[in-house]
Amino acid sequence: DTGTVGVIGLGNMGLGMARTLLREGHAVTGFDLSVERQADAARDGVTIVATQQELFSACETIILSLPTARHVQTVLTGDNGLASCDLAPRLIIDTTTSEPDVTRELDAALRVIGHVLIDAPVSGGPAGANSGQLTMMVGGDDAGFAKAMPILSVLGGKITHVGPVGAGHAVKIINNMLVATHLLTMREAVALGKAAGVDTNYLISALNAGSGRSAVSEVNYPKWVLSGQFDSGFTMGLMRKDMRLAMDLASQKDVALPVSQLAGQIWQDSAAALSDDMDFNRITELTASTNTA
Ligand code: NAD
Repeated sequence: DTGTVGVIGLGNMGLGMARTLLREGHAVTGFDLSVERQADAARDGVTIVATQQELFSACETIILSLPTARHVQTVLTGDNGLASCDLAPRLIIDTTTSEPDVTRELDAALRVIGHVLIDAPVSGGPAGANSGQLTMMVGGDDAGFAKAMPILSVLGGKITHVGPVGAGHAVKIINNMLVATHLLTMREAVALGKAAGVDTNYLISALNAGSGRSAVSEVNYPKWVLSGQFDSGFTMGLMRKDMRLAMDLASQKDVALPVSQLAGQIWQDSAAALSDDMDFNRITELTASTNTA
């Protein structure tokens, strides 16, 4: 029995996860700093509390879906954070795309007071969160992973335990580094195809039956780029964050990534043309002048 599940961060992803938990019969208590997000979640059946401490008290299992590692630190070890509350052991499932080293520090701080932290970042967007079909890359010890499994299996379709705490966040950063890079190389593939007289729809159909395919050619291009919809629910700001995390991780660990580094630079420079709140697939609309040397 997992009791009432708490969700902190009821944004595009967190609210989708809350809805899935409700649909599967769990009671869900939620907290978000934004009153709009509180109202949306309340309308869907989430019990909204006024402070994070109330949520910590009411819930033995707490899911985090926050923008960055800084927000996770604030909630867990900041003023009025979980670590400052005198509570029986809690299970924290951090689905934020966060930073492996920060996650390891938080684990150390929480472990000594009895809490269990696992990192379970996700792929699959708001659609996956709403349908309970997220891909989850989980870091944690075997006992923590086993303890979290009843909740993970409600939220996730493909769940991979990738190593000790922090490993999930490392894998997620690497995953998004590839997606961000694939968006740029796919844009170049389409430009080259056009210049060579190939219709883009035919190009993409053939690539998707061939070995040049990726999630970007199979999903992003048809669904969000060619359709002109740009409504994926994932923003430029968050993807720029993820690309920056990948670049930071590479420099911390002294790993040379010449190709990804160039992609990272293009993403960083895109801030001048594409604002944080825009759909991340808009990177394909950048003029290719930065990389046609
Ligand atoms: P979002 O900005 O829509 O939601 C984040 C929510 O956290 C906001 O509603 C914000 O008000 C709330 N928040 C911020 N600080 C808070 C605090 N201290 N206490 C309570 N609430 C707080 O972001 P999102 O798209 O839902 O993404 C959440 C995380 O999941 C990010 O790390 C993102 O990189 C990752 N992610 C997103 C997607 C996607 O497609 N949107 C996919 C995979 C992973």
